[in-house]
Amino acid sequence: MYHEGGHITKADARRRTWTNCEAYVNLRAISGENMTQISRRSALVTGLALPGIVDAVYHGHQSADDGGKPKRFEELVGFEAADVAAKYSLAILPLGSLEFHGPHNPLGSDSIIISGIAERVAVRTKGLLMPPITFTQCPAHTAHFPGTISVRPEVMTMYFADVLRNILHLGFRRVFILNGHDGNIGPGRGAIAEVADEAKDAALLFASWWEFLSTETMKSLGMFQQANGGHGHGGPLETSAVAAFRPDLILLDKAKDLPEPPDLSGGSPYFLQKSSAKDWLGYSGHVSEASAEKGRKLVKISEDSMVKLVESWLSHSEAPGSW
Ligand SMILES: [Zn+2]
Repeated sequence: MYHEGGHITKADARRRTWTNCEAYVNLRAISGENMTQISRRSALVTGLALPGIVDAVYHGHQSADDGGKPKRFEELVGFEAADVAAKYSLAILPLGSLEFHGPHNPLGSDSIIISGIAERVAVRTKGLLMPPITFTQCPAHTAHFPGTISVRPEVMTMYFADVLRNILHLGFRRVFILNGHDGNIGPGRGAIAEVADEAKDAALLFASWWEFLSTETMKSLGMFQQANGGHGHGGPLETSAVAAFRPDLILLDKAKDLPEPPDLSGGSPYFLQKSSAKDWLGYSGHVSEASAEKGRKLVKISEDSMVKLVESWLSHSEAPGSW
């Protein structure tokens, strides 16, 4: 499932967190080293007799590394939602994607990264964590790869706006949108512009995790040899970040090292879309340099930066929006 030569170690794989979509849970047999697989339903039934064991297995996935657990919107029961905004002054909404990220990364790479970071940010800022939005808009140059699911940008803008509108209707006046995917920037900002005016006292903050890891920051860390510090779709930086949370899903031996994306601007940001990228393999960069250990350091920098941003934002309520 993972490649030792690519620095994704067995220890990394064991660190991986439990997810709701797993059909099976593993319980270590009391009598030895063998792992016993039982169905989730069986685990629930077993839990009637062994609640301690099942609690440990099921709730392990919810813990951020600091041991805390975020409050998850989808776990509110019934009328709990009616007064939730009074208890949690901040709502946190992660945006992901389903997109081909090279032969070595899962389709949900962006969703995995941003869900992992959002969970920790929610714990540290005491925000209410919304489920991630995963069916989103993908650029034309990844749309023709198998597995990419792309929703039209105008549909996405309206969809994001409706989700945000409903969060505001619940009573939230502060929403932090954590973005894990480039294609969400346009529709996300469009949606924010649409709803920000509707609730007079609302403030919506939008930030993309990788933007806290500038080329300069990456160069100073010296993790990757690339001139751009490891950035690029499915490249070593992003692959490492996926491995920080799900090393079991990385297949480094399926991908060879490629040239890094060309620097067209000398480091300044720009936006370029093409109908197709001829001969492109769907990822870029020296992916063999990826590792879960590097990824854990990188997502922690992003997490810390986002927490600092939220704290500054909340303590400067008089500040106008960005312009
Ligand atoms: Zn991505």
